Amino acid sequence: MTTLMYVGVAIAGGLGMYWGIAGAFQLIYYRARRERAAEWKCQPRRFLSPKMSRQQLILGSCNMLAASIASGFFCSYLASGGRSAVYFDLREHSLLSAAFGTVLYFLLTDAALYWAHRIYHRPLLFRYIHRYHHRYTAPNAFTAMAMHPLEFATYQSIMLLPVFVLPLHVGGLVFVLVYQNYVALVDHSGIDLHSWWPWQPPTRFHDDHHVHFHVNYGQNLGVWDRLFGTHRREGRVYGVEVFGGKGAPRDGASAAEPAPYVDYSRKKAGATLADAAPGVDAAADQSS
Ligand SMILES: [Zn+2]
Ligand SMILES: [Zn+2]
Repeated sequence: MTTLMYVGVAIAGGLGMYWGIAGAFQLIYYRARRERAAEWKCQPRRFLSPKMSRQQLILGSCNMLAASIASGFFCSYLASGGRSAVYFDLREHSLLSAAFGTVLYFLLTDAALYWAHRIYHRPLLFRYIHRYHHRYTAPNAFTAMAMHPLEFATYQSIMLLPVFVLPLHVGGLVFVLVYQNYVALVDHSGIDLHSWWPWQPPTRFHDDHHVHFHVNYGQNLGVWDRLFGTHRREGRVYGVEVFGGKGAPRDGASAAEPAPYVDYSRKKAGATLADAAPGVDAAADQSS
């Protein structure tokens, strides 16, 4: 395969996945079930304006296109024997070490994504860079890639750098990249979906990040926010000017007062939309 062919395949895969999944959510929910938004939408009364929707589609597509072109060149570099820790033949290491490498790559990059995202929530970086992503306070799947190009490049670099040091089978690498992108699209869908995988928080977790700003920084795993105290808590005040990830105490309450985590696991009867997307099902939310 020539470099041009690798770039072509990467563009088709990247944009195909972005437009395909986000477009399917638009058709299945935002068009066909718009009148019944209370049954499926995290924020039933809030939708992006047509102008904001167009803007995020252009921004997200440009980011995805640039990343796909870069990925195509990188694949061509790998295929022509370029230096990296990626291997193609499963017989080079045991199956167990291939699985271990994949899990380790996923955990390391997810932890790094959590910290990078959290750092982008520091006041200066937020005001000049990350706020482009947070303009979309009622996100849909197209929002997933709509951000400042510098921020997008940061996340891409986090996914790329371990590839040079961590022995990783090419199948594991592709699986984690596709899974990460898929979860990013689902997390931004604005649809109240619950994953079958216990480590992945429901979509309201990241939807709340867009509503309350400086809280719930995790990308795939909910565990980092619990570990580092940035999971949203009941009774705390959050907002665009409340930096730090831990909210502010309500009037009269002490900052040291213990507050339980918001429970995102709650499902309500009446909406079984398990066929909406592979790996997820949905629950109605009448409380938003
Ligand atoms: Zn953010
Ligand atoms: Zn987001």
